[in-house]
Amino acid sequence: MTARPLLARPQPGRHQGVLREREPDARGGLRAVATVFVTNHECPWRCVMCDLWRYTTTTATPPGAITAQLEAALGELAAGPGLPEALKVYNAGSFFDQRAIPPADLGPIARLVAPVGHLIVECHPALVGEDVDRFLGAREAARGPNHPPPTLEVAMGLECADDAVLARLEKGMTRADFAAASAALARRDVAVRAFVLIAPPFVAPAQRLETMRAAVRFALECGVAVVSLVPTRAGNGALDELARRGEFREPSLAEIEEHAEVALGEAAGHALVLVDLWDLERFAPCAACLCARRGRLDSLNLTQRAPRAVTCERCGAGSAAA
Ligand code: SF4
Ligand SMILES: [Zn+2]
Repeated sequence: MTARPLLARPQPGRHQGVLREREPDARGGLRAVATVFVTNHECPWRCVMCDLWRYTTTTATPPGAITAQLEAALGELAAGPGLPEALKVYNAGSFFDQRAIPPADLGPIARLVAPVGHLIVECHPALVGEDVDRFLGAREAARGPNHPPPTLEVAMGLECADDAVLARLEKGMTRADFAAASAALARRDVAVRAFVLIAPPFVAPAQRLETMRAAVRFALECGVAVVSLVPTRAGNGALDELARRGEFREPSLAEIEEHAEVALGEAAGHALVLVDLWDLERFAPCAACLCARRGRLDSLNLTQRAPRAVTCERCGAGSAAA
């Protein structure tokens, strides 16, 4: 299903931005994390809910471009409060897609990220294979004499754990594929982060919560270290068309909060749960309580506990009738 609006696409000369945040670590503490959004060739898949293509190019990434973008981003980070403990190199696709990240860049990237403690990249399960080994080899070769190489984590889109829905999402992957890629990464001592959708299309609103719960359970069976909940957003053309047909509706902020609490309960003691807060205001009908409810989810992310629900006189949030 393709209904992409016509948009100007970026050039690979510059990264898309750098974001600093904090995340909990597996030891119960917090760590500084920075995300570098690099610009590269678009993902070869066309998942129905994805809008990441708008940050990508339509031609193969030239060798050296990603290295230069990362060098610039790390320079910006070092000029501020310093390098983070963990670095996400997110490329709106797959780090191990050779048209996005040329193999010639893997060695230089490994050298650039050597001072960082933990590296997180994104990848479609189908591309977990030899290039992961090549990068792990480059990481070993780049390690300093007195410094361990960064630990590696690969973030993969599970989205949901229902093969019929995955097929309709045109995900190019089944549950079994996700499980196999997770096992292949575990054999290489690489951690896995799973993206799980809140309110995927093709799932009736009454089934959404159970669909997400099943996805979290499946992710835990696959041994993931982190479940990252992503509220599904319209605006990519395809989802807008599905919304017109009644096969998709964006979640409300109340649903996002409920999903986060349920996921936290499922994953407690096994994996971290993080809710994507980007663009959260689009899900909030009430400006009066948005700030407090964003703060609540931010606190949930950092503490891995759900704070008391926010009450709001204007919209009735938190009251029995709401
Ligand atoms: S694999 Fe990921 S980046 Fe590629 S189209 Fe699907 S959701 Fe988007
Ligand atoms: Zn309100």
